[in-house]
Amino acid sequence: MQPIQQPIQPKSQNQTLMPKAFDFAGKLALKKQNNLYRSRKTLQSKQSVLQTVNGQSVLAFCSNDYLGLASHPSLEQAFSKSAKQYGFGSGASHLVNGHHQCHDELENQLAQFFGYEACLTFSTGYMANLGVIDAICDKNTTLYQDKLNHASLIDGALLSGAKLKRYPHNQYDTLENWLSTDDNQVMIATDAVFSMDGDCADLTQLSNLAKKHDSLLMIDDAHGVGVLGEQGKGTASHYNLNANDVPIMMGTLGKAFGCSGAFVLASQEMIDYLVNFSRTYIYTTAVPPALAATSIQALELVKQADDARAHLNFLIALFKQKAKELELILWPSDTAIQPIMIGDSQKAMSISKKLLEQGILLTAIREPTVPKNSARLRVTLCASHTEAHIERLFKSLQTLKNEGSL
Ligand SMILES: *Cc1c(COP(=O)(O)O)cnc(C)c1O
Repeated sequence: MQPIQQPIQPKSQNQTLMPKAFDFAGKLALKKQNNLYRSRKTLQSKQSVLQTVNGQSVLAFCSNDYLGLASHPSLEQAFSKSAKQYGFGSGASHLVNGHHQCHDELENQLAQFFGYEACLTFSTGYMANLGVIDAICDKNTTLYQDKLNHASLIDGALLSGAKLKRYPHNQYDTLENWLSTDDNQVMIATDAVFSMDGDCADLTQLSNLAKKHDSLLMIDDAHGVGVLGEQGKGTASHYNLNANDVPIMMGTLGKAFGCSGAFVLASQEMIDYLVNFSRTYIYTTAVPPALAATSIQALELVKQADDARAHLNFLIALFKQKAKELELILWPSDTAIQPIMIGDSQKAMSISKKLLEQGILLTAIREPTVPKNSARLRVTLCASHTEAHIERLFKSLQTLKNEGSL
């Protein structure tokens, strides 16, 4: 491949062009000083529990690839086959010329599987949350959100101009007090499985509250679909709820589905509304049709993954038992997300670094992703982990405990 010829600009010259008022360097230095500086590790192999990162072979406990589908041979095959058939780029946004029959088919199958009238796919979960909330809410809406909701739900609220009120984590008494004195149009949005904590919202209670107070309930089930409920139908299914109880459900294709993208399930009317009003749907290029076709294959694998889900539950129970023996502080979670609570950001970083020296990849999660002083090692378990992998993790944790660093 011929590199595009570009005049090489010396770095220092670029820097002098930056207006001083922004003080990027100062803000970065402050991040470093507070142990909150972020940098990326580079994956050099497939996404799987045994992977190569920055040249090192590691055992990873931090992907959201809960069913091990990200490198599943049948998805690799579906992707190359459909790329051959449909080409690669989608060429346009959905409303112009990019909406392919693969997108249509994926939406129909997702709607049918999850028991909703209709479905709309988005290029990412972040865009789906932004696009749904911004389309539905305006300054006349009060939008109630759990304090620990994912950033994309919060950002959607900010973008929409809704009056945002965040209730303390899973505290529905407070929410009900607020709801009972609110005359606005009201929407409630919550993570179904909290992404950095692993515990679930009580969707039965929330859906009852929403009905009682004539509010529109939306759940973000990024970490529930594929993993929880009958055949992986998600957290609502786990609570025996359906489309009448949870009128808007968002799910992602980049986690348990091992692909990329997201979907929103709702009534046909709501989906028609989103096609007309959701700016993150309208003003962006459709994902490649081959990716949609691969997601259809992923849905088939998810449906058939009962054994993987059973193994995952076995690993979760094993992890919790061993963590208890080692007297680690866990968040009350029964899902594949099992954070080991550390508190101090620097301590969390240093433990993560020491684990990496022993070949274990377990990233530290710090503010602002989680509240101040609640830094943690967010362990995620995947069906492709074995019992021996868990043993290896705890052997390393035990070593750190013995030397007093954990
Ligand atoms: C990952 C995640 C998203 C964003 O989904 P992407 O497809 O990665 O953009 C939204 N909500 C929650 C709770 C998530 O964990």
